[in-house]
Amino acid sequence: MHDQPATPAAMDRRAELDALLRRCVQCGLCLPVCATWLATGDETMSPRGRLILLGDLLAGRTDAGPPDPSVSLALGTCIGCQACTAVCPSGVPAALLEGAVAMGGEPPALRVAAPEALLRRLDQPALLRGIGALAYIGRGLLRMALGSRWRARAGEIGGVAASVARLAGSVPRAPRGDRELVRRLDGLCRGAPTPLASLPRPDAPSERVIWFAGCANEGLLPHSSRRLRALLEWAGAELLQPAGAACCGALASHGGQPERAAVLRDRNLGCWSREGGAGAAAAIVTEAAGCGVAVRGYGASLPAPQVDAIVWLARTRLPGFGPVPLKVALHDPCHARHGQGIIAEPRALLRAVPQLELLEPDEADACCGSGGAWGLRHPGLSADLGERKACLLAATGADLVVTANPGCLGQIADALAALPFPTPPVIPLGDLLWFAALRGCPGGHPTPGH
Ligand code: SF4
Ligand code: SF4
Repeated sequence: MHDQPATPAAMDRRAELDALLRRCVQCGLCLPVCATWLATGDETMSPRGRLILLGDLLAGRTDAGPPDPSVSLALGTCIGCQACTAVCPSGVPAALLEGAVAMGGEPPALRVAAPEALLRRLDQPALLRGIGALAYIGRGLLRMALGSRWRARAGEIGGVAASVARLAGSVPRAPRGDRELVRRLDGLCRGAPTPLASLPRPDAPSERVIWFAGCANEGLLPHSSRRLRALLEWAGAELLQPAGAACCGALASHGGQPERAAVLRDRNLGCWSREGGAGAAAAIVTEAAGCGVAVRGYGASLPAPQVDAIVWLARTRLPGFGPVPLKVALHDPCHARHGQGIIAEPRALLRAVPQLELLEPDEADACCGSGGAWGLRHPGLSADLGERKACLLAATGADLVVTANPGCLGQIADALAALPFPTPPVIPLGDLLWFAALRGCPGGHPTPGH
């Protein structure tokens, strides 16, 4: 790639990147929020270090041939989590680091945990359902073969055993049935059992919205997705679910397939415009944070504004939660916290749950190391980041960890389970809110003093 003559478009792109690069004042404020720098302590694995390497590439200092493998490694391991973008006073990193990753080429030294062809098809719910079933069987077999500490044993064995254990362990999962979820949360609360019931819906919905769950939620967490829809309807949403909606295109876009991402975007826009035309829908409500960012990126063509499901709930006058006497640590997905600025809303909802104590882990800005398919492309570093995040979440002393993105859920659950001491379970944030709503229903869970 680098010994070809530069096209005018590439030269324009370089000039644009060069201008952005000059805005970096090298203050280093971005370092403490960068997960790859926190885990390695290596300046080249920080936003500032990556920008310096990019500057070298642009200036031609390392451009005489393919980039040095260490340069490719540093640029290619950027997660794209946008934590640095959120804190940079000069507004530098996002566009630059995207360019840096592209210019760095494929990092040659990386061990890929799954075939690239498979990674590019992870936007198909049917395939994801199959992967979820295989992971379930894989975890059972590993437990039978290696015992309850199968993650640690597989890590000691290394090689294929470690890769299989990592893949099987990090596929997100959540209680399928409502009864199982309620039983597990009642067990943590150590109180009277919560009567199982459907959440009631208001007589007249307050707002009509288009619902977009995303492939990973549909394929891997369909029951949590169903409970989140029930929660939205309890809160007054009328959900339109137009047939024909496709993947948001984020996976294709991040996997270097912009044409496929554009086809998926156009399919969704066509489908939503038919359903939401003439102001029929007030919003497009997205479940997964990554999908939210991708859908927001469709821009002015959207027939209604994109709103994250948690944000929609936080903006709505809710019927009221019942008590959940638990210490709960919250993990913010990067695509929610940095990609959409969603910080206050999940906290406001959790603080509205009586008797719930909200705990904040250290390094809340930093990525957990899932990063969608990034974690599968960089399994070693991803596991290190997951372990660091799990230790910080466990250190809060929480009874329960919650998060609102399937990738983070699988990564954190796997890393918590691998720690050599008792750790809290992790469930989707929507599942906990659904449980709190159930406890607040008439005839649900008695509130102390009533
Ligand atoms: S990218 Fe931004 S935060 Fe990081 S060193 Fe440069 S100016 Fe400072
Ligand atoms: S996007 Fe994330 S991983 Fe990449 S440099 Fe910024 S903080 Fe680090």
